[in-house]
Amino acid sequence: MFDTKMTVKKNIAILGSTGSIGTQTLDVIRANPDAFAVEVLTGNGNADLLIKQAIEFDPNTVVVADESKYQYVKDALSSHDIKVFGGNKAITEVVQMDNIDIVLAAIVGYAGLESTLSAINAGKQIALANKETLVVAGDIVTALAKQKGVNLYPVDSEHSAIFQCLVGEFHNPIEKIYLTASGGPFRGKDSAFLSSVKKEQALKHPNWEMGAKITIDSASLMNKGLEVIEAKWLFGLKPEQIDVIVHPQSIVHSLVQFTDGSMKAQMGLPDMKLPIQYAIGYPDRMKSDFPRFDFMKYPHLTFEQADTKTFRNLALAFDAMNKGGNAPCVLNAANEIAVAAFLKDKIGFLQMSDVVEKSLQTVSHIAKPSYEDYVETDKETRRVAIALI
Ligand code: NDP
Ligand code: MG
Repeated sequence: MFDTKMTVKKNIAILGSTGSIGTQTLDVIRANPDAFAVEVLTGNGNADLLIKQAIEFDPNTVVVADESKYQYVKDALSSHDIKVFGGNKAITEVVQMDNIDIVLAAIVGYAGLESTLSAINAGKQIALANKETLVVAGDIVTALAKQKGVNLYPVDSEHSAIFQCLVGEFHNPIEKIYLTASGGPFRGKDSAFLSSVKKEQALKHPNWEMGAKITIDSASLMNKGLEVIEAKWLFGLKPEQIDVIVHPQSIVHSLVQFTDGSMKAQMGLPDMKLPIQYAIGYPDRMKSDFPRFDFMKYPHLTFEQADTKTFRNLALAFDAMNKGGNAPCVLNAANEIAVAAFLKDKIGFLQMSDVVEKSLQTVSHIAKPSYEDYVETDKETRRVAIALI
């Protein structure tokens, strides 16, 4: 037998290459040099890391979103045959370059929306880490992807798990899905405890190492709330088909229940490189040397109900999803402001939910928003949330 499979290199643009997902994507690519070529790298404030990555991976183009760092990056790469641009507008332009096959969207927050839409518009396949894109404008993003024949390959581990369970089952209806949640560093704690926690405690996640914003979101369960909305759009589900179950060991990454009652789960050690590799390698499962799961080290896999009374963010996210329209966009913008304020010690841990809840009550509801309505809602919510703080 000889292998008839041709290896075609995929040209990849990594938006947010200097972040947690971005650097792990480059780890995957470094380990699979025959499968991928890096065409574009983008960063924001971490110019030195962006320069280092560019020298190692020799992309066609580098963009530094923070324009004050443009000259510095350009000078550092002047002896290399690499184009350098500055500013977010440049990111939305370079993602449309002909030689890109797949765009890995790993900018954090609302800031990632425009470049992802631009890449979809140009018909690029998307490996989506930036969940906020779907939370803010899931209807517009998924409709455009359908129109352009673009697949959105989930990078988020829970959604990758659901996707992996669905391969070979796309014609079978889903009854419901369960997104697993680790519960974060404050699982089992009460409001009295949470009222005095500091950012240093919230930044210590038990199972995952991630960027600061998503780590705080994981501690407050907002991350799971955003993921519920992300799942609704990715898999075309109704709100009542999505449930959350706390699973502190983070081994079962999520589950699908089909209409015959059968459930499929995807399991493995918590390591983001696996869902990243699956998203950019799809439909292939590429070999990896990631550590393997050992049953004897995890004799007990446990599951429990999420405490939405103490961790109100999860309930607020379900409310926003049920309300629909621009409500999830408000939820996201208010949360981005609240998390930034918590990270600057301006508000306490529980006040983050107050800011989100009051913003949802204040910003006017739009049932069928246009793209411009989402942009305006994001701006207005930021004003409202800042005033609350
Ligand atoms: P990080 O904060 O580690 O990285 C964010 C990246 O975006 C960095 O490259 C950063 O540049 C860049 N960036 C930040 N702000 C801007 C901006 N205004 N314009 C352009 N670029 C910007 O985040 P993560 O990697 O943890 O998360 C990225 C996305 O992936 C998030 O949406 C998150 O929810 C999602 N995700 C992350 C997971 C994880 O394990 N980390 C798991 C599942 C989903 P620089 O650092 O140079 O300033
Ligand atoms: Mg996740």
